[in-house]
Amino acid sequence: MRPESGSWLPDSRTPDQVHLSVVIPIYNERVVLPMLYERLTRLLAPLAVSYELVLVDDGSRDGSGDYMVQLAASCPEVKAVRLSRNFGKEAALTAGLDLSVGDAVVVLDADLQDPPELIAQMLAAFHAGADIVSMKRRSRAGESWHKRLSAHLYYRLLNWLSHVEIPADTGDFRLMSRRAVNALKQLPERNRYMKGLFAWVGFPTQVIEYDRDARAAGDTKWNTLALFGLAFQGITSFSVKPLHWAIGVGLMAALLGFSFGLWIVIDALLHGNAVGGYPSLIAVITFLGGVQLLSIGVVGEYVGKTYFESKQRPLYVLRDVVHHPRALPDTPAEPQNRTDAPQN
Ligand code: UDP
Ligand code: MG
Repeated sequence: MRPESGSWLPDSRTPDQVHLSVVIPIYNERVVLPMLYERLTRLLAPLAVSYELVLVDDGSRDGSGDYMVQLAASCPEVKAVRLSRNFGKEAALTAGLDLSVGDAVVVLDADLQDPPELIAQMLAAFHAGADIVSMKRRSRAGESWHKRLSAHLYYRLLNWLSHVEIPADTGDFRLMSRRAVNALKQLPERNRYMKGLFAWVGFPTQVIEYDRDARAAGDTKWNTLALFGLAFQGITSFSVKPLHWAIGVGLMAALLGFSFGLWIVIDALLHGNAVGGYPSLIAVITFLGGVQLLSIGVVGEYVGKTYFESKQRPLYVLRDVVHHPRALPDTPAEPQNRTDAPQN
């Protein structure tokens, strides 16, 4: 295993020196794992790089974790990382990035929706000087039109709202240089909206378009509600504009209320109208009540976020890391089976 190079300095990128890490978050993917491993090793072998596969089991219940550990026992390239429970994809990804040691790190979904064959192309871009090679989906095979439409609209909305530009239609599938990963590791937030964090880090980025495949097997872990939650988290993690809107709407409502009040007084003075206004009263009260509750909700969302950030809990808890690196000629092989691995 290479020591982690603190590479803020210009990095050397001669192909024969590059050590590649492929980080894969895994949650209940037992059926695809053999396929994934076979396809990855077949395509990585001819590339002129040494590599490691960092498989992160995010508390699977279908035996994925045990399978990974077996794989690591027989294959020195595999680093099997098991989390103590299901922490969510973003946390699993963070664990994988923390434990990766490569000069270039590729993040990949386990379900083969991101064709691993593109890694060669990504490495070429990395050698050409890109620190980040982000993969942009040209098509989304096997996804319904309403999922495609909502994804499209969501990215547009997110970019309009947030201060950093989060590229449309790019997922987590990407290559990062060691210094980009190091920068990412410095972002301490508990609310890990990865797409946004990737964008925040910056660095010279090359975008490669690709056709996203349908899942090789198994089911997606997302339902509509979870996706909606993720979308909302993306917006509130990277923008405080909803708070500004609350102020704007509040101001407008106050102005309207003031004008309305003035008009009632003038009307009463000029025309002697008795104040008869039950319907208008109810309308105003419910309108203002709605605006207030909505604004409090928006403020509450940010307060809640602050609350969770302030706890400073670790992002994930490791169960174990199983890795049997290939023995160097002069050092006897020490199997690494750490149950007390450091946590982030
Ligand atoms: N995943 C994970 N933890 C979770 C949910 C998903 O590690 O709690 C992994 C999953 O195994 C897969 C990747 O994240 O490798 C993407 O998940 P999925 O394919 O379900 O999402 P989609 O492609 O539908 O966005
Ligand atoms: Mg998928």
